[in-house]
Amino acid sequence: MTSPAQSAHLPLGVEAPRYARSDLTVGIVHIGVGGFHRSHQAMYLDRLMNQGLARDWAICGVGLLPGDARMRDVLRAQDHRYTLVLRHPDGHEEVRVVGSLADYLFVPDDPAAVVSRMADPATRLVTLTITEGGYNLSEATGEFAGDAAAIVADLADPARPLTAFGLVVEALRVRHERGIPPFAVLSCDNISSNGDVARRAFSAYAALRDQELGRFVREEVAFPNSMVDRITPQTTDADRASLRERYGIDDGWPVIAEPFAQWVVEDRFPLGRPDWDLVGAQLVDDVVPYEHMKLRLLNASHQAMCFFGILLGHRYVHEAVADPLIARLLRAYWDREGIVSLPGAAPGIDLADYTATLLERYGNPAIADTLARLAAETSDRIPKFLLPVVRDLLATGRPVDVSAAVVASWARYAECRPDEVVDNRRSEVIAAAQRLSEDPVGFLRDPELFGDLADQGRFVDPYLRALTLLREQGVRVALEALVG
Ligand code: NAD
Repeated sequence: MTSPAQSAHLPLGVEAPRYARSDLTVGIVHIGVGGFHRSHQAMYLDRLMNQGLARDWAICGVGLLPGDARMRDVLRAQDHRYTLVLRHPDGHEEVRVVGSLADYLFVPDDPAAVVSRMADPATRLVTLTITEGGYNLSEATGEFAGDAAAIVADLADPARPLTAFGLVVEALRVRHERGIPPFAVLSCDNISSNGDVARRAFSAYAALRDQELGRFVREEVAFPNSMVDRITPQTTDADRASLRERYGIDDGWPVIAEPFAQWVVEDRFPLGRPDWDLVGAQLVDDVVPYEHMKLRLLNASHQAMCFFGILLGHRYVHEAVADPLIARLLRAYWDREGIVSLPGAAPGIDLADYTATLLERYGNPAIADTLARLAAETSDRIPKFLLPVVRDLLATGRPVDVSAAVVASWARYAECRPDEVVDNRRSEVIAAAQRLSEDPVGFLRDPELFGDLADQGRFVDPYLRALTLLREQGVRVALEALVG
C-alpha cells in the first residue's frame, strides 16, 4: 500500500505532482477544505504548478468546525497531499495526487495563528467554500444575523475569532493597521452573486465591530463573483476501498468527482492571482450571464427531470436521462424555454454544446446522483431557478408550456408521494397538493413562491392541461402530449 505522499511509489498511470513541493510558498488561505475545494480550486492550482507556475500561490487550508479535526489529521499524515479520482461514464478513471495544499490550520487549535497567516503580506487571497448557509444571512430578511451565538462570541473576543467572519475581518484590520493592503475575498460557494453576498456578510460583521471597519471592508476589499461547477459527491468508505483495491493507494480522504469542471471568475484581484486562465478557468468582467446560464439550464433542468423521473419509477439521474421521454423533456425545456429566456449571451459559450454536455454529465452512472436529492427543497429551488425563466418568457409573450408542466409535476408528486417530500415548506406544499381535486390552481396561490402566477392565464392554462393529464391519464401520456 502506498500513501499519496509517496510520489515515487505511486502505480503507473497515477499522476503525481511534477513540482518540488518544498519550493511552494503560501499565497492563498482557504476556509472550508471539503470535497469540492479539493476537486476544483486546488485541482486548477495543481495543474498550474505542474506547468512550473504559481509556486508562490500554494494554499493553506483552514477548518473551523469540530468535524474538520479529521481533515487536519488526515492531511497532516499525508503531507497535505490527497488523491483525486475522476470517474468517466464508461467506467474509466483518471487518478492523480494533488499537491497544491501546502498546509492546514484547525482554528480551535490556535485562532491567532490563523489570523497571522491571513495577515501575512504573502497572503494575497482568501477563498471560501463555507456552504450556502454559511454566510449567516437571515432567510426572511436577508440581513446578517448579528445575534447568532458564534458571532456574539467573536465580537466579545475579536483577537481570538472562531468564525470565518471573525477571522477574515480581524486579519483585514491587522493588515490595515500595519499598512498592508487588503487581500481579495473569493467565495466559491454555489450562490447567485456569491461575491456580493460575501461582501454583505463580511462588511456587516465588520460594522458590528466598528462602523469605520465596516466601511473599509465594504468599500476597499475586493469580493469578485464566481460561478463554480463540478459534481463532487461525499467520499464513501467504498471509494476508499476501491482506491486501495484498484491502485494500492491508502488515502484517508480521497476525492471523487465527475470529469467536467467549470470556473468563471470576475477578474478583480488587486494583489494579483494565479494564472487560472491558463488551465481552463474563464476570467471575465461580468459573471452574471454565466450564472443565468447555469441556474436556468443546469439547476432548472434538475427540477424539470426529477418529479417526472420519480413518477416514472426512476431512482437515479442516469437512469432517468436514459429514458427517451425524459431526454426529450430536457431538450424541449432547453430549446423552447430555458435558452430562449436567457437575458444575454455568455461570451465564449456555445449553448448547444453546453446543454449536450449537461445531458452527457447526467448520464454518468459512476456519479450515482439521485432524483430524490434533486427533488428536495423545491420551494427554495423553483423560485430561484425555474420561475425567472417563466417570468422573462411571459414578459416577451412567449409560451411557457414545459415550465408550467414542471410545476404541475411537482404538485402531482406531492399529491402521490407526500411521505417523500423533503421541503422547508413541507406541510403547506402537501396540504395544497391534497386539495388538487377541488382547487388545482390553489397550489399556485402561495405568493412567496409563485408571486402572481395564479392569475396569469398564459401560465395557468398549460399548468392545468399538464396536471389534468398527469392525474387522469398518467405520467407517460402527459409527457407524450408535451414532448411526444
Ligand atoms: P463538504 O461537506 O465536503 O465540505 C464542507 C466544508 O465547509 C467543510 O470543511 C466544513 O467545515 C465547511 N463549512 C461548513 N459550514 C461552515 C461554516 N459555517 N463556516 C466555515 N466553514 C464551514 O462539502 P463540499 O462538497 O466541499 O461543498 C461545499 C460547498 O461547495 C457547497 O456548499 C457549495 O456551495 C460548493 N459546491 C459544491 C459542489 C459539489 O458538488 N459538492 C459543487 C459546486 C459548489
